[in-house]
Amino acid sequence: VDNRRLDLGVVESLQAEAFGEPGQRTFRVYAKTAEGAVSLWLEKEQVVMLGSAVEELMQRVPSDLGGSPDSDILKSFVGELEVKVGSLAIGYDADHSGFSLEATDFTSDFDLNNISLLATREQFTGLREQIDEIVSAGRPRCPLCGRPLSADGHFCPESNGHAAIESVN
Ligand SMILES: [Zn+2]
Repeated sequence: VDNRRLDLGVVESLQAEAFGEPGQRTFRVYAKTAEGAVSLWLEKEQVVMLGSAVEELMQRVPSDLGGSPDSDILKSFVGELEVKVGSLAIGYDADHSGFSLEATDFTSDFDLNNISLLATREQFTGLREQIDEIVSAGRPRCPLCGRPLSADGHFCPESNGHAAIESVN
């Protein structure tokens, strides 16, 4: 057994969150177990990539799968843990009928190099929706019409034209 791995098993909740002002936001995936919580801190680019990866996975895995995962984890994680994640991987774990999320490539005060969890389809769908909101909230707003500007330009009904502004955190 590799004791540097932490497997949370099926989590109670899974959320994507952003903190701070636009341009200076920090981001995390927050996983709660019955008696603990893990914060996986991510860069903005990682959040965006995670959103796309979850969407792609949801389309690929048949919709009747992943409703109620099971886990062999008997002892659930107790306490609070925060890591700044280098790499994230997601997938469908057919052995446990659930969606998996695995964080690697981080440093921790604890002797850990891998954190994994299992989630339901509903939790992954919620995660994607939260990421969509986070990403669109970070876009600068058009001063004319107040709509979010996207990286590939903006058709402004107020000016009958386009405005291209780079998106920020
Ligand atoms: Zn506009």
